[in-house]
Amino acid sequence: MISPTSVEGFVRRYFERRSAPLQEEETGVYRAILPGSLLPAFAGAASVRVAFLPERMPPGGGVELAVVGSYLLDRIVEDATGAGSHSVARLSLGDVSPREVLEKSIRPRNAKLSLESATTESVPHILFNFTVRLTTDERVERVESVLIDLRTSAERRASPVLFEEGASLTEERAPDWTGIEEAYRRACGLLEGRIEAAVIGFRDQAENLRKAEVERITKYFNDSVTEALHSKLTDGAAEAQALEVERDRRLAEAEEKYRFVGEVELCNVRTVHLDVTRAEASLSHRGARRTVSVEFDCSDPVAHHLVCDECGIPTESPVLCFGGHLVDPACSQGCAFCDRVHCRTCIAKGMIAPCAECARPICIDHLEVCALSRRGYCPDHIHTCAICGRTVGPNYIARCVSCEQPYCVVCVAPPTDRCATCRALQGATTQDRAVAAVRRSDPGLAKITNWRRASNPRVTVLVGKGLVWNHLLVMDARGAVVVRKKVLGR
Ligand SMILES: [Zn+2]
Ligand SMILES: [Zn+2]
Ligand SMILES: [Zn+2]
Ligand SMILES: [Zn+2]
Ligand SMILES: [Zn+2]
Ligand SMILES: [Zn+2]
Repeated sequence: MISPTSVEGFVRRYFERRSAPLQEEETGVYRAILPGSLLPAFAGAASVRVAFLPERMPPGGGVELAVVGSYLLDRIVEDATGAGSHSVARLSLGDVSPREVLEKSIRPRNAKLSLESATTESVPHILFNFTVRLTTDERVERVESVLIDLRTSAERRASPVLFEEGASLTEERAPDWTGIEEAYRRACGLLEGRIEAAVIGFRDQAENLRKAEVERITKYFNDSVTEALHSKLTDGAAEAQALEVERDRRLAEAEEKYRFVGEVELCNVRTVHLDVTRAEASLSHRGARRTVSVEFDCSDPVAHHLVCDECGIPTESPVLCFGGHLVDPACSQGCAFCDRVHCRTCIAKGMIAPCAECARPICIDHLEVCALSRRGYCPDHIHTCAICGRTVGPNYIARCVSCEQPYCVVCVAPPTDRCATCRALQGATTQDRAVAAVRRSDPGLAKITNWRRASNPRVTVLVGKGLVWNHLLVMDARGAVVVRKKVLGR
């Protein structure tokens, strides 16, 4: 809502433009020079004295009250509305850059914003200023302004700049009133919606006060009537009747006092030519690109926030889904391992899924499916079996009792619970590179000549046969010993 424009401001501006600024003659009473067009209405007087507050009216009269509904104000509104040069304004975009407007209004969370194109044209708008008056035991009055785009009949935010002096430039061309009726109907509809809640609140409050008052009066008089009837006085009945008459009068008074009256009055109309800019912009990142059109006008060069494709709520920092959708942060989720982000719809299609172990959200690039359970896991919780190459989740990993390495449950089979590599040990000579390396590094092992070995892409297992104990060594791909233990020989 626009901050209320007071009747006083309107009247002052009217005289400043049409004749001369108001001169204060005594506190709250002003001298107004009448413009030529108002002379007939005031019987040719050159000037009148004006007050804005009833309490400033001097007892002797001779001062015109300028409030809504007063003779003076009605004549001023009539005159102001009829005068094209007064009621037309033009606002231009000036040197505001559409790129800057966009960058200020749209701050994508994960995408680059670029301006593709922008066109600006001057579009006629009509600004309707209404006075809304709500009356019960009190009176509330305010001005509501509705700005309508004459091309589309759509409402545009009426920014405060429209009410500033600078906006009222003289326009040579008379306003083109085509479409004004539709715009007016639209403005009335919008106004109704805008003030509905306030009207209902105001009316209900008055209704509650009225009920309380009626109850209070009824109770007071009923008690008094009962008292009169039970008194020993001879004229008790007559007094009761008089009380009833008084009660009805007071009730009627209360009804009148709290009666709700709502009035809306169009107090002026202005044509405002606003530069409206339509811009095409794109949001992009490594996964998607999305173009959007935004519109803004020069009175308030701010593009509206983009609306979330999922929930319809405008968002200042939109997120570009890798499926091309624009959503607000609450309707999106990103992968815990990369910058891939998706909207709810794409997530429902499986573009992001939780790890079955740690529940972190994982994108399709990072989600690994367990070959045995078909459940999805994050890179931290999936294991690739070095023997068969299967990827398996934590529940399908088994450790070989012999080499102590983790493999998939298929490759570590009962009854011995040894892995396929340990079950495939074959005799190796002391010339074998792995055997030679361990014998060189350990004098204790150098004495052993009976070796067996087996390898898979991750480890090499060596077993050297001693007199009592066998020596088992596991080496990684770089030759480092990762397990070394003595086992009883077979
Ligand atoms: Zn949303
Ligand atoms: Zn990812
Ligand atoms: Zn999406
Ligand atoms: Zn995980
Ligand atoms: Zn395996
Ligand atoms: Zn093993």
